[in-house]
Amino acid sequence: MTSQDKKPLILFNSQSRQPEIFAPIHDGEARVYTCGPTVYNYQHIGNMRAYVFADTLGRTLSYKGYKLKHIINITDVGHLTSDADEGEDKMEKMATKSGKSAWDIAAYYQADFENDLERLNIRKLEHPKATDYVEAMIEWGKDIAEKHCYECETGLYFDTTTVPEYGSLARAISDEEDAEGRIENVAEKRNVADFAIWRKTPAGEKRQMEWDSPWGKGAPGWHLECSVMSKELLGHPFDIHTGGIDHREIHHPNEIAQNQAHGNCEHSGAQMWMHNNFLVERGGKMSKSSGEFLRLQLLIDRGFHPLAYRMMCLQAHYRSELEFSWDNLSAAFTRLKRLVMMMERIDRTIIPAEPVHQKLAAPMQKFDAAICDDLNTSIALTALDDVVSMKKIDSAQKLGAIQIIDNVLGLNLMALSRTDLRIRPKDARITANAVKTKLSQRKEAKANKDFAVSDALRDELNAQGIELMDGDPLGWDWKI
Ligand code: AMP
Ligand code: ZN
Repeated sequence: MTSQDKKPLILFNSQSRQPEIFAPIHDGEARVYTCGPTVYNYQHIGNMRAYVFADTLGRTLSYKGYKLKHIINITDVGHLTSDADEGEDKMEKMATKSGKSAWDIAAYYQADFENDLERLNIRKLEHPKATDYVEAMIEWGKDIAEKHCYECETGLYFDTTTVPEYGSLARAISDEEDAEGRIENVAEKRNVADFAIWRKTPAGEKRQMEWDSPWGKGAPGWHLECSVMSKELLGHPFDIHTGGIDHREIHHPNEIAQNQAHGNCEHSGAQMWMHNNFLVERGGKMSKSSGEFLRLQLLIDRGFHPLAYRMMCLQAHYRSELEFSWDNLSAAFTRLKRLVMMMERIDRTIIPAEPVHQKLAAPMQKFDAAICDDLNTSIALTALDDVVSMKKIDSAQKLGAIQIIDNVLGLNLMALSRTDLRIRPKDARITANAVKTKLSQRKEAKANKDFAVSDALRDELNAQGIELMDGDPLGWDWKI
């Protein structure tokens, strides 16, 4: 495909509420900031959807030829149990509960998060920590204090009426109860939406994480860190700011207000604001406190490869709600297995060539059009299927086409093997020999056309976490 055939990249900007052609601020470069995790606990797979989305965006920008600078920050201070300024500091609360230091907790959960990123084949990025930017946050606070803030007993607050069109990014929160729960009024605040730039440590108390400031000992507000870090690391304005849709309602409007205040109201800090929709459970929004805590590790413990979860995310559009179910995950895993089986029939040791063959033009154009259409990964996957199943085509070129597509989708198809996908469920008790015996019994039953027996054996093996794929000439068996 020549560069003229390539489509412009169109992305949905939550701020203008419409799709826009991506036009970088700096020629040939794309600068992206993604709000990272609050490292007081494990991330659930819903959180990880936000990073699969951000990674797909980053990979797409690389594919379109931009030199990418992408940051995912680590929130290791300042995030309260509610996004508005209510409740306790998440880090300090966990520290008290666990008897560990807030610093140790942050280091532990950051490492766990980074491990999950790697398992989801999310490209390695810089993960700067908020606690390393507190001085810069204090400076920022000093710069905006006089014109945009007021001090009261609990801290320095941002007056949201001092910037034009505060909150224009947010949609009405559909769930009234939730909306009310999130923005409670604090007696001291002038306006309901005002938020803390600095939170003072209450008199007579000592926080584990606290710093001196012109407004007393305390800690920065959570919203401030992303304004400061994005400016320090990417410069303002930069190209794209991402996060989950909950951030569209409070956190990002507050970042924008701070950026406007600091930059004399000229810009919101980023040119585009992009938000992934939620991963939900049938019962509603995924949470760390209620129901089963769905961590990536739990999926692996049940015998799923982590990239099956990535596949599940890619099958949906990032702006659509995605419902998690074990069946959906199984279906995504099966799709991944089939792809890997097809890949094993291609010699992956040869050097991939540029896919110039005419037969490859259609699927490559389909892929380009899909991914440029606001990251339509589900259609992009069908273009991948088209290429992988293509027959009578030069292997090097076919491999080259797959590599281009997979560099964006990130399913690691150039390396993944069937052995990698055989994950022993944590509580599997069956031995390799027992599996072999059942497989040969099943083969015999099939040869005798005794399908009831063969199906029963298959179900029995499935219950033990062993999946059989009959379409596979090599046989998909279990290996311990
Ligand atoms: P947090 O650690 O709470 O700051 O969340 C990390 C990221 O996950 C943020 O971008 C959130 O918007 C996003 N997020 C939280 N819950 C979900 C969910 N159920 N589905 C998708 N993204 C989510
Ligand atoms: Zn943020």
